[in-house]
Amino acid sequence: MVKETGYYDVLGVKPTATNDELKKAYRKLALKYHPDKNPNEGDKFKLISQAYEVLSNEEKRRIYDQGGEQAIKEGGSTGGGFTSPMDIFDMFFGGGRRREREQRHEDVIHQMSVTLEELYNGAVRKLALQKHVICSKCEGQGGKKPPEKCPTCRGTGMQVRIQQLGPGMVSQMQSMCSDCRGQGERINPKDRCKTCEGRKVVKDRKILEVHVDKGMEDGQKIVFSGEGDQEPGLDPGDIIIVLDEKEHETFRRVNSDLTMQMHITLVEALCGFQKPIKTLDDRTIVISAIPGEVIKNSDVKCVMGEGMPTYKNPFEKGRLLIQFMVDFPAHINSERIAKLEKILPVRPEIIIPDDSEECNLVEIERSQRNRRHNHSMYDDDDDEHDQRQHLQCQTS
Ligand SMILES: [Zn+2]
Ligand SMILES: [Zn+2]
Repeated sequence: MVKETGYYDVLGVKPTATNDELKKAYRKLALKYHPDKNPNEGDKFKLISQAYEVLSNEEKRRIYDQGGEQAIKEGGSTGGGFTSPMDIFDMFFGGGRRREREQRHEDVIHQMSVTLEELYNGAVRKLALQKHVICSKCEGQGGKKPPEKCPTCRGTGMQVRIQQLGPGMVSQMQSMCSDCRGQGERINPKDRCKTCEGRKVVKDRKILEVHVDKGMEDGQKIVFSGEGDQEPGLDPGDIIIVLDEKEHETFRRVNSDLTMQMHITLVEALCGFQKPIKTLDDRTIVISAIPGEVIKNSDVKCVMGEGMPTYKNPFEKGRLLIQFMVDFPAHINSERIAKLEKILPVRPEIIIPDDSEECNLVEIERSQRNRRHNHSMYDDDDDEHDQRQHLQCQTS
């Protein structure tokens, strides 16, 4: 049990979230609320960053789970305080962006949703983007003559507004100069380039062809070098496309393997079966269990070579892991019980001591059970969870 869930709620994950789930949640939210895209959501961006900083660190997560936000702020053994949200962002998305900022325009990061089918088969996706390019009419000069000092802000780029709040009370508000957009200089209106209105850059619609290669994975970056926004005096930044894998209704990817759950009936579990599976490239494969080989609930079997293709080596494929969930009958007719007894292996002889007490077995309330059971075969380290799953299989 965790003390509080605030940080988990900020990232929209459960307290049982794995590291990968945390990363994915942070990635999505950080890109969405980055000040470049959402300048009015700075606080939200900061919260996301702090939550991720704590939960992605094993030690800090443990402290938070035990003592909540208070314990984190008090520091514990790791020391208090947070890293700046921008540094966390840069570290996560590959750093170095800020160091080069003086000579290079900032990179533009876009997230692109892809299906598991697209990652399996490869795909070419067209992405329409708006970007700033240097005005070709004035070659980035903004006008016929070099710019002059902005008369509105006297070259400071800032405007100070004084507002009378009451008798003897004024407030000073500093804001970016609207005449020169904080540049401190402007083009004389009569010399101004008509194409870019003195802005030196114009908006351009650009269609990017994004090649999603077979075997690429969630979070992988595709970089379009130098395709980002242009600005006079700076090298253009890159456009970085971050792949975001959509959940698939049947398969889940774990490295090069695919995992799935398959429900089988009791008769199939005991007497064998054949089952078709639709693959991600739309083939149908058939798996069979030989009669006599009993499949137990939660058993995992695999098909070699039916997992994900390896990136840059697509003929090499991982495994398809299938976890069988046996659907037991909800009820058995009383006249059949005797027949079953005869067929099934003999029941062990149980000796009931004379002084034993008889107790009733009662159904457990649904709310007390945990229904998280999907794809649990990789969560073996979580004992509590396994027990829950076991419980669920017995009672459903
Ligand atoms: Zn100005
Ligand atoms: Zn121009």
